[in-house]
Amino acid sequence: MPTLLTRSTLPVPSVRSAFTPAVTPAEGAGVQVHRGGGPRVIGADVPVPVRDGRHVPYANLDYAASAPCLEAVHEAVTRALPYYSSVHRGAGYTSQVTTAAYEEARETVRSFVGGWRRSAVVFTRNTTDAMNLLAHAVPAGTSVVVFETEHHASLLPWRRAVRLPAPATPAEAVSAADRALRASPVGSRLLVVTAASNVTGELWPIEELAQVARRNGARIAVDAAQLVPHRPIDMTALGLDYVAFSGHKLYAPFGAGVLAGRADWLRAAGPYLKGGGASASVGRTTRWAASAEQRHEAGSPNVLGVIALAAACEALSDAWDSVAAREEALVKRLRSGLAALPSVRELSLWGDRAPRVGIVSFVVDGWNARDVALTLSEEYGIGVRDGKFCAHPFVSHLLGADEQACSSGRDTAVRASLGIGTGEEHIDRLLTALAELAAR
Ligand code: PMP
Repeated sequence: MPTLLTRSTLPVPSVRSAFTPAVTPAEGAGVQVHRGGGPRVIGADVPVPVRDGRHVPYANLDYAASAPCLEAVHEAVTRALPYYSSVHRGAGYTSQVTTAAYEEARETVRSFVGGWRRSAVVFTRNTTDAMNLLAHAVPAGTSVVVFETEHHASLLPWRRAVRLPAPATPAEAVSAADRALRASPVGSRLLVVTAASNVTGELWPIEELAQVARRNGARIAVDAAQLVPHRPIDMTALGLDYVAFSGHKLYAPFGAGVLAGRADWLRAAGPYLKGGGASASVGRTTRWAASAEQRHEAGSPNVLGVIALAAACEALSDAWDSVAAREEALVKRLRSGLAALPSVRELSLWGDRAPRVGIVSFVVDGWNARDVALTLSEEYGIGVRDGKFCAHPFVSHLLGADEQACSSGRDTAVRASLGIGTGEEHIDRLLTALAELAAR
């Protein structure tokens, strides 16, 4: 077993010097390569230090945690800044421009998710906030059904929920949801499910699950945090009642997220936050705003975050074909490269052939995941994530099935995730690094 690192051994720079690196992009090898003709990210190949004193172009393979900013997003925010002003509060010209941009962004997002005209689009901070808002709004006594494979953001917010074990196949997911919903008490019912796993990248059968929900008089809420950076979603065509996602995973790292879907529960619930904006009139008693959006967006909203998010939605909507095709080729390269390394085992719920987005988790024999991640960073300039990815029950399930992992006492994994700025060189560098690590 190699020496344990547990913490970075490279000196951690002050915030100021970390953001003004000693080596400018122009001096770094490989500098700021823009890939293909589609959307482009800022900071692809930014130079990062490695242990031998060199700087190498960063191989960012951690998109699933937070994706870099799209150039189109940066441009939209820069264009909006001179007009930056209050939203829904000012009579001045710039307030009107900013308010219009905020409400236009709502329409852009509605169309991005395929929401129907009267659906609510509530801006939140992120997916966690969106799911907590929905949990706040579900009528008392609602029976909630979730799979234990969910990210904690979708697993934990519910007052009470029936937790279904990890299904062995997508078909079993559908039949287990059917049984659980049918067995739920009479009253409102909600099925909560992820569209694409943040651990394995596998796509869940959300259309079939939506049908099962409808047959059982239930609603379906979809955690789309890991789907929308990779694939389009159409709530109306798929029959989804709610979707939630985060701007920072969608190339818009300015702190906005979305809960979109049916307005009635949201309109009937008390405000998520109480304060200005959520109230229609305040005297001895308070009358809350009738619209779902106003009711749950109290306080000054994050207008730049929302403008950024809408710009990302537009840029991706114009480029799905090229984004998805490029990514598919890269995931194939990564997975076949990993499969060729005898000491690396990919984690999967539904097997090799299950359709998935560009997220792959794995363990390396004889190595603890933290050490793999830190060594990849410090020696190769590669960024990946290690841990249980805020999906503890799911990762334990996947590793529990892996006897070797269990017997060596490991309970965490390494995750490589890709996106628009990823190139073949990043994938190949990871595969070479893992082969070298395995040989130590
Ligand atoms: N759901 C999934 C599937 C995720 O991957 C994440 C982020 N890892 C979340 C929810 C939570 O997102 P956020 O941290 O932006 O709230």
